Amino acid sequence: MNRVRVSDGQIFAFAPNLQPVAAFGPGETFEVECQDSCGGQIRTEADLLSKVDLDHVNGATGPIEIVGARPGDTLRLDVLDIAVGREGYVGIEPELGVLGDRVPRAKTRILPLRDGFARFSKDLRLPIAPHIGTIGVATAGQTFSTFYPGEHGGNLDTREIRAGSTLYLPVFQLGALLAVGDLHALMADGEVCVTGIEIGGTVRLRADVVPELGLQRPLVETREAWIALASAPDLDAAARTATADAVDLLARGRGMDWEDAYMLASLVCDLRISQDVDPYRTCKMVVPKRYLPRLPGLPERRPVRRRGRTTARKQRR
Ligand code: CA
Ligand code: CA
Repeated sequence: MNRVRVSDGQIFAFAPNLQPVAAFGPGETFEVECQDSCGGQIRTEADLLSKVDLDHVNGATGPIEIVGARPGDTLRLDVLDIAVGREGYVGIEPELGVLGDRVPRAKTRILPLRDGFARFSKDLRLPIAPHIGTIGVATAGQTFSTFYPGEHGGNLDTREIRAGSTLYLPVFQLGALLAVGDLHALMADGEVCVTGIEIGGTVRLRADVVPELGLQRPLVETREAWIALASAPDLDAAARTATADAVDLLARGRGMDWEDAYMLASLVCDLRISQDVDPYRTCKMVVPKRYLPRLPGLPERRPVRRRGRTTARKQRR
């Protein structure tokens, strides 16, 4: 199995000039071992967010070269599986999170996981829904700490980046140079207290390269919807960009004029908050596939026979 371990390489900033520690070709499946967002520094309820060494926080495993990806292409990442560890933590710290001004002191809860549930208290078991918190590629020019989400992906904290979904990321540098970390066993929209159930684990991905799409920002495909993601210093700016991207998709995909697409978006697309706690905030605009069956510019995946098995794979030039 193609496997990239934390010991192979880990980054703490998405920059333009990253050096790959592994390389996979388009269509190849590989696994990435991920640390939790505090890099294993929180093991008991006495370990507090306020005490962690910030130089070793939110590491992303990689960079991983996707052979043949060129600037201007779009990276298509099928999230095939996310296996998380046996326990995770949730934490608060004064001044962090949506209500940080009301938090008197840091507190950590360790939540054991069993049979697909996280035990929050004696009478409260939460069905887990693992997703990837941080996933991104080398940037166009700026360097962003892995705490930041942006056009390169990064700390998107978007719960739809889960097994069964596909994440599309713009490629800014040769080989894309992907890095992945910061898994969550569970998190709701907003991530209001500043953490999900933070946890380590392994993700299985399949990368492919789409040349024609011209995507500018991350976009998630689920079975039911296209989700345009936008990150900005505040929620209003993130909402505006996510909405503009979704309206543009509807207009192009349906051959509508912009005014009609804008009105349609207001009727059928949900504008939601991925997270309201990272240094940049992330909003998402959900475009149901009912109104946009195909993403404009995205070639149809065609089934190809490989190793005796028929799998869906995109057309390549
Ligand atoms: Ca995160
Ligand atoms: Ca996290």
